[in-house]
Amino acid sequence: MAYVVTAPCFGCKYTDCVVVCPKECFHEGEKMLYIDPVECVDCDACVCECPVEAIFPEWDVPAQWREFIQLNAQMAAVTPSITEKKEPLV
Ligand code: SF4
Ligand code: SF4
Repeated sequence: MAYVVTAPCFGCKYTDCVVVCPKECFHEGEKMLYIDPVECVDCDACVCECPVEAIFPEWDVPAQWREFIQLNAQMAAVTPSITEKKEPLV
């Protein structure tokens, strides 16, 4: 199991979430971040850091965002790791 970034993350990029992750799971896409499910240890630390509640454990991803489970796995494999908070692009 792993944690999953979902639709509310689109356009955020405040990246409060990345600094608390003990495993450097977060990857940066053009519009949102993704969690590498292979690295995630289900510690739950990132969930409360996200101001828009975009992160869910895989078993609790809302029905309309289930596709993000696969998307996180696919995109984390092809995007760079991000471990430091950065200013939003917008
Ligand atoms: S804090 Fe939430 S919305 Fe912002 S980058 Fe992290 S997961 Fe996405
Ligand atoms: S649950 Fe823990 S290990 Fe997984 S992405 Fe969040 S902070 Fe990182």
